[in-house]
Amino acid sequence: MIGKIVIANRGEIALRILRACKELGIKTVAVHSSVDRDLLHVRLADESVCIGPASPLESYLNIPAVISAAEVSDATAIHPGYGFLAENADFAERVEQSGFTFIGPSAETIRIMGDKVSAIKAMKDAGVPCVPGSDGPLGDNDATNLSLAREIGYPIIIKAAGGGGGRGMRVVHSEANLISSINLTRQEAKAAFANDMVYMEKFLEHPRHIEIQVLGDGKGKAIHLGERDCSMQRRHQKVLEEAPAPGISQAARDEIGATCVAACERINYRGAGTFEFLYEDGRFYFIEMNTRIQVEHPVTELVTGVDLIKEQIRIASGEPLSYSQEDITLKGHAIECRINAEDPYTFMPNPGLISYYHAPGGPGVRVDSHIYSSYQVPPNYDSMIGKLIAYGNSREEAIERLHNALDEIVIDGIKTSIPLHHDLVRDPNFRQGGTNIHYLEKKLGMD
Ligand code: ADP
Repeated sequence: MIGKIVIANRGEIALRILRACKELGIKTVAVHSSVDRDLLHVRLADESVCIGPASPLESYLNIPAVISAAEVSDATAIHPGYGFLAENADFAERVEQSGFTFIGPSAETIRIMGDKVSAIKAMKDAGVPCVPGSDGPLGDNDATNLSLAREIGYPIIIKAAGGGGGRGMRVVHSEANLISSINLTRQEAKAAFANDMVYMEKFLEHPRHIEIQVLGDGKGKAIHLGERDCSMQRRHQKVLEEAPAPGISQAARDEIGATCVAACERINYRGAGTFEFLYEDGRFYFIEMNTRIQVEHPVTELVTGVDLIKEQIRIASGEPLSYSQEDITLKGHAIECRINAEDPYTFMPNPGLISYYHAPGGPGVRVDSHIYSSYQVPPNYDSMIGKLIAYGNSREEAIERLHNALDEIVIDGIKTSIPLHHDLVRDPNFRQGGTNIHYLEKKLGMD
């Protein structure tokens, strides 16, 4: 087993990784920026190294600084968490070249899946159903692009091959806007992702976002851990997630799960990963694969009983998977709310001092968060400050527990997304289950 891990991240996920390491008896090194000295996991880690100033480019995204921290602390492995360097193939490669274990897939897998065009191609070849689309990048011949879009049928969506985080996408409703939209998306993609490759997909009008969690041992064996429904979104970003997805039958789960497992086994997938699908009229359409742990992993942990972070570490240590497919059964229901330091309705970030914090509790309540009373939320990073997760024997019980926990939690001093979640747990359509990806924006009058 790995002896000492550098946690190359911050906030709640860094604390989550630290907790898993402590359970496994693995030593931890927290690497942090100068404004993050007081993060909870920095205080709790065996060692800590300041790797640069607040700016992410100079600290959490600074590859030589992270690798040097591993060298000076004599660590054996690096866990990237999510975001920052988690899906940076060059980073994974340099970690391994420097003699450390990267807790994640091979650099080659990250590279293929990081480019949505090559990911879709790999998945098509593996028999995974994809959204009807351009079958590769768009060229610059307007006539060809116009006829391609006509064939697919409007509305369509232009997407950046290198896009992520809900950015780099543009919906086109009619032919008149096609060429200008392609050009605009291309320019934005070049500026934001340093890659101007774009492709075209049918824009599905009322899909749900359903994703499958997988674990692979890197030697040709893989399992799936069922699905999560992440349809509650604003600006293509997830707000609330649940497992299992309401209305998905065991037969449908088994079928799409087996397809994902076969794809993982074909590419010798190593570590935790997620196949993201749009689900419309009973059919799944692959949109992308995430080659890392995801924010919403706790809902899967609660319904399967599997600790995904510990599994990531075991796999990276070269151990076989701790579970076979037959061991994975779903029990109960779990729902996660992302708590952001932002205005609940305009989504404007609102960092600052948390003057008072009171955590909720009771049966089936899990809080993954690094905040505490008198913690200062810095303005330099993502606005998510924690996740509130409720588990119940049924979806109804999980919702009631979430409702109680939202009543109990107190975060004073800054605005948070808690009022929005309060609204959602009382929303009759959410309570019924199965709302699509446009529901929240429609509800908020944003569309
Ligand atoms: P990112 O990498 O930025 O997260 P994704 O490809 O995963 O981008 O898409 C994010 C979200 O954008 C999806 O969950 C969905 O809401 C919307 N989306 C993406 N592709 C389509 C499509 N073909 N039709 C409708 N909505 C889409």
